[in-house]
Parts: sequence; structure tokens; C-alpha cells
Amino acid sequence: MIINWMKKELEALNHASLERRLRTHVPIPESPGYMMHGGRVLLDLSSNDYLGLAQHPAIIEAMRDALLIEGAGAGASRLVTGNRRPYGQLEKALAEWQNCDAALVFANGYIANVGVISALAGRGDVVFSDQFNHASIVDGIILSRAEHARYRHNDIEHLRALLHKFRDKRRKLIVTDAIFSMDGDQARLLDLIELKREYNALLMVDEAHSGGVYGLHGEGLALALGLKNDVDIHMGTLSKSFGVYGAYVCGNETLIRWLMNKARPLIYSTALPPSLIAGTTQALELIQTEHWRRERLFTASEFFRSSLCMAGFNVGNGDSPIVPLIIGNNHKALQFSSALETEGIAAIAIRPPTVPDGTARIRFSLSAAHSLEELTDAVTKIRRIGLRLGVLESCDQS
Ligand code: PMP
Repeated sequence: MIINWMKKELEALNHASLERRLRTHVPIPESPGYMMHGGRVLLDLSSNDYLGLAQHPAIIEAMRDALLIEGAGAGASRLVTGNRRPYGQLEKALAEWQNCDAALVFANGYIANVGVISALAGRGDVVFSDQFNHASIVDGIILSRAEHARYRHNDIEHLRALLHKFRDKRRKLIVTDAIFSMDGDQARLLDLIELKREYNALLMVDEAHSGGVYGLHGEGLALALGLKNDVDIHMGTLSKSFGVYGAYVCGNETLIRWLMNKARPLIYSTALPPSLIAGTTQALELIQTEHWRRERLFTASEFFRSSLCMAGFNVGNGDSPIVPLIIGNNHKALQFSSALETEGIAAIAIRPPTVPDGTARIRFSLSAAHSLEELTDAVTKIRRIGLRLGVLESCDQS
């Protein structure tokens, strides 16, 4: 029976400390940066609410106002009758923020990557993708039926060799996360641009963890580095620093027209509720004007990363608000996470296949909502757990 093989495989997953389970977390609106779980208040060091906007009253009010005007659902896909007024307003604001011709909103980041990649590449084409790119990029490539040329993480020479190998393919697309979601390190955008020029490829950058976070107005890593014109497809999410839900793609007029005609998840799926879109426009306004949120976020991130590093943990090579504490063993990573919970900290263990075998970790993500006092206390607890579980002795400090 079908259920038998599932049960057996689930047991094997459980045995290897690899089974995933849903947990319920309850927000505490008056205390961003905290959440409730199992009746206890926990410091939230796992959400991607980088700027602390998920509970912002102005966003919630904009959503409520639009809900009363537009109703609960969009009723149809955007190309049918779902393209309500808030969409145009948000896309205009996104295009101005990204200093691009046009923007297009997608249901979420996963859908945006799947939709865009499969609209830009097909049989006879090749997509070059960093080994640590997000799963949605991998799935987009699989769906596109293009050749998947996977290069070693941030290994520019490996990418060059693959570009050379596939130089005769019809179309070439290079895709990268700007900030890698499980390691918090940056893509080598300057090198990628040099190669895309040399091999006449398109470059797509996923700013899921950098949009709202980098740049004077939160415009993302590529724009912050002055690389706007060299990136052909700017993609980002509206669920992390924006605190809401959805994703955007920005680029030139032709690209957006193409996606409107060819990105199947956009064409064949109901539009997001207009109230959500209205809330996102308000979030964008806050992202652009409340610079103090980014300052607080980076102060918190730098303090937290350097404190863990000085304590002797392996925190990788990043400099973003994502701080991995690499443990290695799956079971130990779970033990670490549950010890953190006992100490009042929500920080989830990330295990394979999300990260490579032998690199299970706690993935901390910081927020403007965290104070240095809270983080100092958290570091003390993390250090104590690290010593108790033997993680401090065993971690690589090179
Ligand atoms: N790209 C990256 C780099 C991500 O980390 C994520 C989500 N974690 C996504 C895309 C998918 O975004 P969403 O959650 O909006 O589907």
C-alpha cells in the first residue's frame, strides 16, 4: 500500500533527525522581535522580519482600509479581472525605488523564481546557478527544461569553465542569490557581471534577503553597489524586510512585457488579495524613509556575529543579518535548537537537504526589533549551550 512506503521513509527520516514538523508560533503585536510558542514567550531569532515591519500599525491600517474597499479576494488572475488598483500603485512605486522601467508583482518569491526562469529559458538553453542558490531557483530551472549548469558556491573559475563549455547554447542565463539564504554571505556580483558580458549571458539576481536591507533606501545589494544597469533581472521578495507577502521583478519594459505574456504562474493563478498589495506599498514607504531600521539591524547583526565568533563558534563568512552557527551533526543541531527554546530563544535547526550534508546549523536572523541587551543575553545562553553540547570544541575556527 502507498502508505506503507511513506511510513517507512518517514521513519528513516525521523531516525536520521531529518523529519520536519509544523510548529505554531503566535505573534505578540506589542513586542516585535518576540513570539509565543507552547504558552511561552520566546525571543524570535529565526524570522526574516529584518526591519521589524510585520506588526507595523501603518501597514496593518493600509491593509484594513483596502480590505474594506476591495474586499477579501481578487477574484481572478491579473490578466482576467484581478488587476485591482493597488497593483498599479505598488508596481509604480517599486519601479521608482529600483530605478527601473517597470515592475511586476508575483504571488511570492518561490513562484517568481519558478515563473521567471521558466519564461526566460527553455530546451536548448542553459542556466548557470550557484550551488547554494535557493530551492525555488533550482525548481525554476528544472521546470524550464534548460540545461542546469550548477557551479560551486561563489567559485567564479568554475562558472567560467561552465560558460565556456556551454558557449554554443542558444540562450544563457546566470542566476544568483544576492545574499545566500542559509550562509548569509554575498554573491560576487562584480565577477558575475564581467563573465555575463564576456559570454553574452543574462544575469538575474534574487534579492530576497538584501532588498530593504542594503542601500541608502533599502534598494538592495546590486543597486547599493552601483550595478543596476548590469543586472538584467532584479527579483526580490515582499515577505522578509517588507514584513508582508509576495515578490517583485524589476527590469526594462520589454522584460516585464515578456513576463506578463510568458510567466505561467502569473497568467494561470489568481492575483494576491488587493489588501495585501496596499499594505506592501505602505511597507515600501517605510523602507525608503525609516533609515534607522537598517542602522539598528546592522548594529545588531555585527554585534551578534562578532560575539558568537569571539566565543569560538563557526559563523561562516557572511556580513549580513543572517548568521549561521554551523554545527555539522543533524541530531546535535536539533538538540541545540531545543536547548535554545528552553532558554527562551526561538532559533530553528536547518538540516539537509536545505544545507549540504554535514553542515546542519542554527540559522539566526537578526531584526531591527532586537536590542543589544537582548542579544547580549542571547549570546550568553548560546555560549553556555555550546559548551554543554560540545559544539564549541568541535567547531572549525579557521
Ligand atoms: N529566494 C530566496 C533566496 C529565499 O530565501 C526565499 C525564501 N526563503 C525565496 C526566494 C522564496 O520567497 P518566498 O518565501 O516569498 O516564497
